[in-house]
Amino acid sequence: MSTVRVGINGFGTIGKRVADAISLQDDMELVGVVKKSPDYGALYAVRRGYKLFVPDEESHKAFEKAGIEVAGTLEDLLRSVDVIIDATPGGVGAKYKPLYEEHGVRQIFQGGEKPGVADISFSSLCNYDEAKGKRSVRVVSCNTTGLLRLICTLRANFPVESVRAVLVRRAADPREIKRGPINSIVLNPPKLPSHHALDVKTVLPDLDIVTAAVVVPTTLMHVHHVTVRFGKSGITREDILSVLEQARRIILVSSEATGIKSTAQLIEAARDVRPRNDVPELVVFEDSIHVEGNELMLFQAVHQESIVVPENVDAVRAMLGIASAEESMDKTDRTLGLSRSFFL
Ligand code: NAD
Repeated sequence: MSTVRVGINGFGTIGKRVADAISLQDDMELVGVVKKSPDYGALYAVRRGYKLFVPDEESHKAFEKAGIEVAGTLEDLLRSVDVIIDATPGGVGAKYKPLYEEHGVRQIFQGGEKPGVADISFSSLCNYDEAKGKRSVRVVSCNTTGLLRLICTLRANFPVESVRAVLVRRAADPREIKRGPINSIVLNPPKLPSHHALDVKTVLPDLDIVTAAVVVPTTLMHVHHVTVRFGKSGITREDILSVLEQARRIILVSSEATGIKSTAQLIEAARDVRPRNDVPELVVFEDSIHVEGNELMLFQAVHQESIVVPENVDAVRAMLGIASAEESMDKTDRTLGLSRSFFL
């Protein structure tokens, strides 16, 4: 079987993680990555042996001045790949779309782009098969990926009637020095509902879901409080636990057993056991799982920097139809070291 040639445009928080993940797949070849400035991120790409491409002449000159070798331009890269994964800042990907189209490459965009940028919005557990044959796919945002992981896992086992969620969003990624707030809790937005429900509906249009969100001064993870109403009674806490224990890409963390009751402790634990302290799984706080009548409530945490990485890898296989959902997710999870238990 020939390998799928993949390029990545944008080598920041998401791009570098997706590049590392693609380089681990035996059915894909990472042809190169596009980097705009010759900074520490470029030096990481060099260290990893990734071929560096630049978006324009200005960047080329800056790389030359810094003495970092460049393999060519974005257009050179587009001539040598089957799929381009766009991980540029939100809104920039849409500007590149005509160029991608011109070169006849399939495109994977990120959640910062508007849904219309691609043929479909994508979540491996929810609509993998819909991506087959598509020219372009948008992997939904980190918050939406987290919500969809939980919702699609529950929907496969129980009649989900509605979802209500409050999102407590991190203000910035750890490396970002110009974003805030640094001393406030900001309504995001003040008028309800928040747009996150609409984003979930790009994948599950028939779902009754309403969301609200605030932004808080932290960089580590998002936390959601989710309430799910079921269309039948009699579903117990134990039923939920046994489904989530077996669920793919979801980890249950017991505060009682581990002492972890915060994102700070979760990330500290990840520093010990995970490369880059990434947690691509959705983390559900086991002790928060509470069933009251037909309603389930729980807290979950989303590591925004890494949760969408497995979905980007799956999206390549899904579009090209080279593996079933289960085959792709098995391979992605194995190569990225995802597990059903944080400490194993
Ligand atoms: P980032 O700012 O960390 O990285 C973007 C990279 O693209 C940077 O290296 C930047 O130099 C480069 N870039 C900027 N303009 C470019 C251009 N014209 N051509 C080529 N490269 C250019 O951003 P990010 O956080 O990785 O986000 C990328 C996408 O992923 C966005 O759509 C974002 O919404 C989405 N996303 C981000 C997160 C997160 O928490 N960081 C989570 C999920 C999805």
